[in-house]
Amino acid sequence: MNIQRLSQLAKDFVMNAGAVAVGIATTETLKGGPPSTDLTYVLPGAKSAIVFAVPMDQNAIESFLKKEDMAAANIDNRRVNMMASGLSYELSEFLNMKNITSVPLAANAVYRKDTPNGVFDEKPPISHRYLAVRSGVGHFGLSGNVIMKPYGSAIILSSVVTTADLIPTDPLLPEDNYCDGCKLCVASCASGLMSPDEETTVTMGGVSFTYSKRRSYNRCEYVCGAFTGLHPSGKWSTWSPARFPIPEKDEEFMGALLKTIPAYRSRKRANYGLYHPLAPGSLLEFTCGHCQFVCHPDKAVRKARYKMITESGVVIQEADGTLKAVSPEAAEKHISAMNLDQKSLYEEV
Ligand code: SF4
Ligand code: SF4
Repeated sequence: MNIQRLSQLAKDFVMNAGAVAVGIATTETLKGGPPSTDLTYVLPGAKSAIVFAVPMDQNAIESFLKKEDMAAANIDNRRVNMMASGLSYELSEFLNMKNITSVPLAANAVYRKDTPNGVFDEKPPISHRYLAVRSGVGHFGLSGNVIMKPYGSAIILSSVVTTADLIPTDPLLPEDNYCDGCKLCVASCASGLMSPDEETTVTMGGVSFTYSKRRSYNRCEYVCGAFTGLHPSGKWSTWSPARFPIPEKDEEFMGALLKTIPAYRSRKRANYGLYHPLAPGSLLEFTCGHCQFVCHPDKAVRKARYKMITESGVVIQEADGTLKAVSPEAAEKHISAMNLDQKSLYEEV
């Protein structure tokens, strides 16, 4: 098949199946990029990748941020991840049936095993984010998340890598990036993943992209992974009822995380979430996602969502496992009334 027709066909395939944006990155357009832009890592002889975005349900976001409903956003997260991974698989098999060698990538939760700490380094085989910004699916926000109108960063990305020499698509124009540096993503992150003052610049195929430097990913794992949830201010939390301290230095996070595993395993948990290879017990409740959900293209919505996060109080867990948000003072009282064994599930004793 003529390469122009094949490139269009691959894009139509995903757009007709629920994706809202698609792009094509090639070994040329990714040249000079970070290791996770090396397409040949997953497919020797790879020449290009089709990368696309599937939107999350905006209706589930605000009740999650207001700490009224944790389930809907968790279930939607699984639905959209499965849809994105499934779409990669379908497109890849479609191309393979046409004798165009291709491999699908999972949307999330797959890591390289050949880095110094193996999967614990959480380095993806291929970074969908880099491919997405280089091929015009979206822009980098200051958060380092990929953002696009009208969904913000509430999207899930996935890709298919192929030996076909497809026609690359251009990055979006920098002046069309709605990120205005409001830093609400940084302010709504209890873990401090995004550096408040340092930036990272990535250059791929001669085009540079800048966003806030990401500190250790163990930070996000510790907080978004539900090991703890109370913001250092003590005024608000994620959906995690744990209140273990959040360290200041990157190198302290792995120790903190390991220390809280017994409590994590012992707390009652919901029967939904993400089966994640690094989660103790394998089922990971998605308790944060603030940087992703706060970032709406409309600044007024962004501000309102930040207020939802920071003014909806602190999550506690009742004896039957129910999670609910209460005022910071009521949360303190709830914990104080526990015996030492119970307390140790939630804070240092
Ligand atoms: S929350 Fe603000 S600073 Fe952060 S990525 Fe979105 S628009 Fe940019
Ligand atoms: S998901 Fe939560 S903990 Fe992780 S980087 Fe975003 S705001 Fe921070």
